[in-house]
Amino acid sequence: MFKRVKKFYFSSLSSCNENCLFCVKRESKDPEITLDTEECKKEIKKGYEENYQELQFDGGEPTLRKDLPELISFAEDLGFRKICILTNALKFSDKKFAAKIVSAFRKTQPSFSVSLHSHKKEISEYLVDTPNTFKKTIKGIENLLNLGAYISIYHIIARQNYKDTPDFIEFLSNCFPAIKCVIFSFIYPAGAALKNKHIFPKLSEVEPYFLKALDLCKKKDIFFSISSCGMVPLCFFKNYEQYFIAQQIIDQPENIKLIDGKVKKQYQLATKEFHSKSKIKPERCNICLLNNYCAGLWKIYAQIYGTEELRPVKDEQRLRKIREFIKENVE
Ligand code: SF4
Repeated sequence: MFKRVKKFYFSSLSSCNENCLFCVKRESKDPEITLDTEECKKEIKKGYEENYQELQFDGGEPTLRKDLPELISFAEDLGFRKICILTNALKFSDKKFAAKIVSAFRKTQPSFSVSLHSHKKEISEYLVDTPNTFKKTIKGIENLLNLGAYISIYHIIARQNYKDTPDFIEFLSNCFPAIKCVIFSFIYPAGAALKNKHIFPKLSEVEPYFLKALDLCKKKDIFFSISSCGMVPLCFFKNYEQYFIAQQIIDQPENIKLIDGKVKKQYQLATKEFHSKSKIKPERCNICLLNNYCAGLWKIYAQIYGTEELRPVKDEQRLRKIREFIKENVE
């Protein structure tokens, strides 16, 4: 079920202990920013008063904040229904640290979205551009699960890992059967990704591996989605379009607040205005039945690979199936 929940993504610091090749903050000309404890509390309180129900501690890497346990407790006491830490889990490889953060959750389930982009050490460390991190992230996941935390996985699809996507799902289900949610993302063309264009995969090549991975998720009862910042054209998701359309519907700006450092940014990634500025559709999209639902192709992607891969959808039955799914599954 896709629920319209009001979520507050709070990025209170820009520093990180990894250096991902696709990081939107890396290469930024803005100075590194860390809000102090009182500034954070003020923003969190404001978010709560604006009726946001879920708080996502974003970064940089939020575990680098010494006051994270205090901020978690503060948010719980205000009444946030869910609090989630978006993390690379490196610091959770230390059991004591993991226990300290998990025990800061007294009223809500400790919840973590862990970035893991490969089950292969070399590829994982290549994409995060930081040596000796893979084993720590795996250990961090283990420690958090042993402490009863809820974990979802955030997985970027790049040229270096796309062929492994089905095996990655097998790896998760074999090694961490308690993990039942994977959020995929294609590369958002900003920040470091603009200097690392060799990591953009060609979508028509990704497609069969990705669809196989989604089949596996379904079979293994793992919830999946694509983050709105990493959305690509729907014609690559045959029979799964409805899931990604549903995600876009619930991610509209009225449901999402984004504070990045000291700047309040209106969440725009799933809006038509944003898509029309950053993406393109060639003329043949006009005959596609999914045209109204589809954001099109990133302009930067089109500069690298062109637009020839796009295939207008003409199957009315597919459209009916999508409409029914949205009616039944988007609340
Ligand atoms: S053909 Fe065009 S409109 Fe249709 S799904 Fe592909 S990109 Fe979107």
